[in-house]
Amino acid sequence: MMSANKILVDLTIAAVQLNPQIGKLNETISRAKLLLNTFKTKMDTKVPKKKLDLIVFPEFALTGYNFISRDHILPYTHTTQDSPSFKFAQDVSKMFDCYTVIGYPECETESKETLYNSAVVVSPKGDLVFNYRKSFLYYTEEDWNCSENPKQFQNFPLSFPGRGKNINNPNSEPIDITLNTSIGICMDLSPYKFEAPFNDCEFASFNIDKKVELIICPMAWLHSTSITKNDYELDERSSNDKILKKLEEIRSNLEDQGLPIIGSQGDFQIDLESNHVTERLPVGSSQIGHDYNELTKPDMSNINYWMHRFMPFLQLNVRKYWAERGLMSDIFEETGDASYMGASRENYWNFANKNAILVIANRCGIESGNTIFAGSSGMYKFNGRDNFGINELMKDDNKRLDTTNPSVDLYGNLGKGKEGVIMRTVHCEIDR
Ligand code: GLN
Repeated sequence: MMSANKILVDLTIAAVQLNPQIGKLNETISRAKLLLNTFKTKMDTKVPKKKLDLIVFPEFALTGYNFISRDHILPYTHTTQDSPSFKFAQDVSKMFDCYTVIGYPECETESKETLYNSAVVVSPKGDLVFNYRKSFLYYTEEDWNCSENPKQFQNFPLSFPGRGKNINNPNSEPIDITLNTSIGICMDLSPYKFEAPFNDCEFASFNIDKKVELIICPMAWLHSTSITKNDYELDERSSNDKILKKLEEIRSNLEDQGLPIIGSQGDFQIDLESNHVTERLPVGSSQIGHDYNELTKPDMSNINYWMHRFMPFLQLNVRKYWAERGLMSDIFEETGDASYMGASRENYWNFANKNAILVIANRCGIESGNTIFAGSSGMYKFNGRDNFGINELMKDDNKRLDTTNPSVDLYGNLGKGKEGVIMRTVHCEIDR
């Protein structure tokens, strides 16, 4: 049934991709400002002219990410409003008259006992709107004794004055809208400690259950050629061999591209072309490269993986199967009111006919010569479409847990390895 009060929302969003290195805060800030100035000049000459509503920076966007101990990170931790990242965000908000979200290392108090991996939301006027602390931690955070968000996943209201239109009467006065918003920082998208069952999709399920409409993800997500803790956990001989082989691969990939060991900096990719959408390539496609090269092209294996982690937002046939066979009450006996894979006791797909926007700002570059980040920042809309033809429905769900699922719209992505900005105007329909 069509709801009478559907509101059409248009938001112009930018995601910034940076390659910060530890100990180079001022250099990173200068480069980011140069990038933003270039972006603003390009944006101002665009017809029709766009006004930015939201700009998102990566996890630990200015400080670098790979801190190896508590002592290592302490000089870079601050209480929210004393953080250089907060001050930078205030400048950015004022420059574009928009919200800024940025990831930074936080200490709860000046005594620096409790540390968090956080992201702050700053209003267009430069005020603190919300501070979110990462809930699910990655190995690297354990090395410096980071604390988990005691509140776990959170949602909050974010207001966009005049950004709505009545769907039945698009010429009427613009409507002020407040979007139900959440933040997920990188590992928040993964199974808790990599141990929880994959299909629990904890963060996505939280967003389904709370009816979140705007999902903002600052990330420092790794590229598959990166060396990770898993490589060190093999037996000593295979570990050494594997690490040496991977290091050699990283070195030769960079040499082929004439890049230093930290990867590319300052060679900006600025993408304001709304028709430049990302091509849907299925998992396993021979067109998906796995090497760290072609740095202006997105890393499709990670993008497909991110979509898989949002499986509760994707159209799946298995939910209809459960509903038709009357299996729901068995499946949901233990989960109570919470959803599982997007389905709940009452409703085979809680997200059907709804919309949600996802913004991912992932860092790029290389730290410590061994940790490679995957870039590929971009925007997506989960369109809630469930009305696919029968042929479409016959397709195996397992082959559609990626960008080929038509219930996700891809607005575009930056490449895996260049610093830059991507801007898109996203459209969604919300119920009010
Ligand atoms: N799961 C993420 C990855 O493998 C976690 C990284 C992070 O939290 N920064 O890249």
